[in-house]
Amino acid sequence: MTRERIFLSPPHMSGNEMKYIQEAFDTNWIAPLGTNVDKFEEEMCEYVGVDHALALSSGTAGIHLALKYYGVGPGDYVFCSDLTFAGSCNPILYQYANPVFIDSEPETWNMSPIALEKAFEWAKTENKMPKAVIIVDLYGQSADYDQLLPICKKYGVPVIEDAAEALGATYKGKKCGTFGDISIFSFNGNKIITTSGGGMVVSNDEQAIKKMRFWATQSRESAKHYEHKEIGYNYRMSNICAGIGRGQLEALDSFVNKRKAINTKYKSLLSKLPIEFMPVHSNGESNYWLSVIVVPNNGIQDLVLKELEKENIEARPVWKPMHMQPLFAKCTFFSHYNILSETLFEEGICLPCGTGMSTKDVERVVSNIQESFKAVMI
Ligand SMILES: *Cc1c(COP(=O)(O)O)cnc(C)c1O
Repeated sequence: MTRERIFLSPPHMSGNEMKYIQEAFDTNWIAPLGTNVDKFEEEMCEYVGVDHALALSSGTAGIHLALKYYGVGPGDYVFCSDLTFAGSCNPILYQYANPVFIDSEPETWNMSPIALEKAFEWAKTENKMPKAVIIVDLYGQSADYDQLLPICKKYGVPVIEDAAEALGATYKGKKCGTFGDISIFSFNGNKIITTSGGGMVVSNDEQAIKKMRFWATQSRESAKHYEHKEIGYNYRMSNICAGIGRGQLEALDSFVNKRKAINTKYKSLLSKLPIEFMPVHSNGESNYWLSVIVVPNNGIQDLVLKELEKENIEARPVWKPMHMQPLFAKCTFFSHYNILSETLFEEGICLPCGTGMSTKDVERVVSNIQESFKAVMI
């Protein structure tokens, strides 16, 4: 008999989402835009600590608009974290520009300042200065901005913070999403909060948000007819999705606490095995979106993943680095001292940590991991 599936990070509705959706129905404000969208933007500004926000159909759309705002076009260069989801860098290709990938550092697994400096020196010599640097806050942990921002500033290049996975996380007491000149969040189905699908761009740069808002609504000029001078996109969030987002945002802090508790539980139950956890940087507080472990490099990763799948538990390897993807095979890549992202891909496993998980569920995952280790340790 197969046991009930434990998903990696399934949606978890808190209760108030329906109230906001109902309000939209009651006023027949299903579209276009509407109160939930306006309020969700305001509430996100307040939560994150930024001045302006723009609700979108996805986080990827946000990165696309930010790149466009910084004038990224055909033949340009954009630096981007290597260890990430393709949503971070696909928009570079939408603009026919060239991604350059930057390795991780061991303390946060986020962008390595060593590799970033190497990349800038290369760019200077080769006359390939990037138009923007996309820095990812991986698995809910902030990048080390005290190291990274001064380097970007020195070369005068704007930073797009990809905080898709890091809503609710902090770095030195400030929320993720406040470190980029423009920052983005994702509300895709498996993120820490979801709108069933959606994203948000935030910034203190009012002009930037205004321009991106214009592009995101098909670049409609103000006229009584439909007048267009610029290319536009259909990138806004619906009033229904924003209603879900408002309910989710109210529950976010409790979700972070729950995920942290799951992480702590995994750490204590797995402490006897030769397993390491994704390090937690002393400057930051993760939102613990996913709990990620590193296992010894002798086929154990595969064994554990197979064992968990057999037991109907969803687990995944760490992101496959972008420089290893066939799509980006021709792109330039700068490593830390040694390449770290490849090792993390070969040895890392993301464990289920949905906020609906019970202690029993966590124990079930753990006992299956212990089983797979028994098989190799005898
Ligand atoms: C999920 C994710 C995205 C893309 O967000 P969507 O809302 O799915 O478009 C971008 N970057 C990272 C790091 C992500 O995890």
